Amino acid sequence: MNGQTINNKRNNNRNNFKNLGFLIIIILLGLAILASSSNTSSKVDVLPLSQVISNANAGDYKSITVSANSNKLLIIPKKPSSVTLESYTATNASLKSLGLNYNKVDVIYKPQSSSSSIWLSIGEAILPVLLIGGVIFFMLKSVQGQGNQALNFGKSRARLYGNEKDKVLFKDVAGADESKQDLEEVVQFLKYPKKYASLGAKIPKGVLLIGPPGTGKTMLARATAGEANVPFFSISGSEFVEMFVGVGASRVRDLFSKAKKNAPCIIFIDEIDAVGRKRGSGMGGGHDEREQTLNQILVEMDGFEQGQNVIVLAATNRADVLDSALLRPGRFDRRVNINLPDRKDRAAILNIHFKSKPLAKDFDVDALAAKTAGFSGADLANITNEAAIIAARNSHSQILSSDVTEAFERVAIGPERKNKVMSDLDKKVTAYHEAGHALVGHVLPDSDPVHKITIIPRGGTGGVTWFIPPEDRIFSSIVQLKDILARGLGGRIAEEIIFGKNKVTTGASSDLQGAAELARDMVVNQGMGDKLRNQVFKNDESVTMDKLIHDRDYSDSTAKIIDEEIENLINEAANRARSIIKTNLSYLEKLKDVLLEKETIDSEEVAKILSGSKLPKTVTLY
Ligand code: ADP
Ligand code: MG
Ligand code: ZN
Repeated sequence: MNGQTINNKRNNNRNNFKNLGFLIIIILLGLAILASSSNTSSKVDVLPLSQVISNANAGDYKSITVSANSNKLLIIPKKPSSVTLESYTATNASLKSLGLNYNKVDVIYKPQSSSSSIWLSIGEAILPVLLIGGVIFFMLKSVQGQGNQALNFGKSRARLYGNEKDKVLFKDVAGADESKQDLEEVVQFLKYPKKYASLGAKIPKGVLLIGPPGTGKTMLARATAGEANVPFFSISGSEFVEMFVGVGASRVRDLFSKAKKNAPCIIFIDEIDAVGRKRGSGMGGGHDEREQTLNQILVEMDGFEQGQNVIVLAATNRADVLDSALLRPGRFDRRVNINLPDRKDRAAILNIHFKSKPLAKDFDVDALAAKTAGFSGADLANITNEAAIIAARNSHSQILSSDVTEAFERVAIGPERKNKVMSDLDKKVTAYHEAGHALVGHVLPDSDPVHKITIIPRGGTGGVTWFIPPEDRIFSSIVQLKDILARGLGGRIAEEIIFGKNKVTTGASSDLQGAAELARDMVVNQGMGDKLRNQVFKNDESVTMDKLIHDRDYSDSTAKIIDEEIENLINEAANRARSIIKTNLSYLEKLKDVLLEKETIDSEEVAKILSGSKLPKTVTLY
């Protein structure tokens, strides 16, 4: 399944062909040397012309051959000899006038030699050169093939996949339904470009796949090519970056020109953050090189003409560090998010990878899926493989439950995985926490509806609860912002109510930070404080010439009031959240239970679970 190994196999084939060619050339060379040496084995004796004429007149020679296009004479003596006799005349000189008696010897006049013999002699002269040249060429080629890149620095090392055998389809990627839906559109663009062109639609040039390592970004990119049935050029961002400036840029050029020749096709740039980091940020060495490479990528993408139909997919797990030039319209303006799989998807991934392995019939895949929250697809694939290895080592004819457990422990407890596995307690805390956000948001009438809740970790947080406004909003009112503050604290308050005041966790740190920022913005910039209504305050901090300049247009006593206002907003929000959760505790428990079971719940299901929850009378609505 792995592209790398398939590629190596193909390279080996090529090397075999190369070696065969090499052998043939050596044999030919040997034969040529043998042939030419047998030709020149006899000795040549060059005689003075006067002696030739006197010997001929004495009757020693059988014949003298004069050729039209050289002044060489070939002499055949009457007595056979191993020595070839030759002599030279002046051009156009007549042998008769030099005193040769034509009665004593046959003079053969050889006319202008036919062209074929000229070619023959030219061929004789050139053939060895060609052969030697060929040998050198093949030697260099095979040296390169062995990994010495001395002669093709600038060539991209893109790998081309197009073989039927290593084709990946969407059905081979378990779960990731939303990502697949987004990519299905790309498939349509590649398959039916005319349909879009006829309506004047521009086909996107770049699609960015964003997700944590091992979630199947590479696999999805290949599956997109597989579904569209187009060639797939794959290169990793780090391969562009070499120690010589300019190499990356020329590799980019080479890659894109190859791709254009094969259009429609997909170019896949893995780990694009290796070249696409924000420019001038001073991070990482090899600055110039990265910038040139990045610039070249941008130039090439701008250079696609419409209808060329090359789509560039790029993968990263750090979209935040990418240069904004990459994300502009006409470049990677489409994004596909790929997330860690939830329980249902994990079961599907495990099933895909266990399919080709003899698994004991009574093995409970769902139970394993439940245990592996926070694992990526690659981790799960790794478990199935380890399980097979362990079963083989234990000489089992099937993979038994005990083999899988051992494999799970090995993968889960591996050094870098340690923080990935969610303990049962973490899971429970996260479930209560997210249920708290959702419940408060659901009950408050001026909050947006819950879109989705998950307890699968994303981007450094334990879980996420999304609220999405039914329609885009430009302005927010005090009422709405106060509800946002309350639901933002709902997570921490739920933890506090369930586990106790001093058992709350660090899981709320970003919630608290967000709430503090929002409350300060309300008071300082929006004139939404209680006492300081309709007043705004300037509070700029800037650094010039190593000095911190604090530019603030209010007094210390006002600063104190501002701090109090912010504190009041936060306290009020916490109280509202607390009273909502306490009143609807049974709904919190219900939501938590479903979250622990399914890990991800969408808006409709949340609404169903929470229907019946009420706003307590103590909570003001403003
Ligand atoms: P990424 O590029 O996001 O780091 P890969 O595409 O290289 O991840 O995935 C690594 C391996 O993990 C794949 O070869 C595959 O075996 C497995 N894998 C990851 N996600 C899935 C999935 N959704 N379905 C099936 N296998 C998966
Ligand atoms: Mg990858
Ligand atoms: Zn939270």
